[in-house]
Amino acid sequence: MTRDEAKQKLVAGGHILDAAGQGDFTRGHICVRVPDDANQFYMKPHSFGFDEMTVDNVVTCDLEGNKVDGWAPRHSEVYIHSEIFKMRPDLNASIHTHPTYAVAFSALGRRMKALSQPSALFVDNYGVYTDSIDLIRSKDMGHGVAKALGKCPVVFLKNHGVVVCGPTIEDAVISCIMLENACQIQMIADAAGETAGEFPMEDVMALRKKLLSPEQNAINFKYLQRRVERAR
Ligand SMILES: [Zn+2]
Repeated sequence: MTRDEAKQKLVAGGHILDAAGQGDFTRGHICVRVPDDANQFYMKPHSFGFDEMTVDNVVTCDLEGNKVDGWAPRHSEVYIHSEIFKMRPDLNASIHTHPTYAVAFSALGRRMKALSQPSALFVDNYGVYTDSIDLIRSKDMGHGVAKALGKCPVVFLKNHGVVVCGPTIEDAVISCIMLENACQIQMIADAAGETAGEFPMEDVMALRKKLLSPEQNAINFKYLQRRVERAR
């Protein structure tokens, strides 16, 4: 993938997240490592919504959180992503958003249950950051988030939002949408009453394996991209 293609995919990812209702004013960000430089990443600019991302306004940052290229301002929470990229060489894409159901779910402190297909991706497969409700504006706090993420693809920032990562933009964006879906379903089911027994973990893991298909994530990403482009 060229640098330009990576930026285009990042922008498409931002537009998809906006269409999925994951925007919160101009808050939230999406990042991807520069294809030929693992020590730098492209990031949504500050002061713009996900839907306003363009190849031109994307900024480039390094793993210390410094902006190294781009005219637009950099998000103060850059350290979420720089510290995760530092700690997890297997991850190339990282998203931070404030989705309503996921934030509400994080506030309850309950465990994710296998109540739906999307939940199969996340049961016993997420971290929880509980140090602060505040913005992640220092390397220390970013390091704390990366530590809470551990080996998982997802970390809830309690009462604040989520960080969803993946080996590619497609994987991270689709996971981010599925996480909100899983939280929404569990919130509805839990609010309605006591849920019935869950399927055995073995079945859940078998489904997870199928859901983790990079090919399927790429197909769904392209579909959402077409849908967004038709509406623009
Ligand atoms: Zn935030």
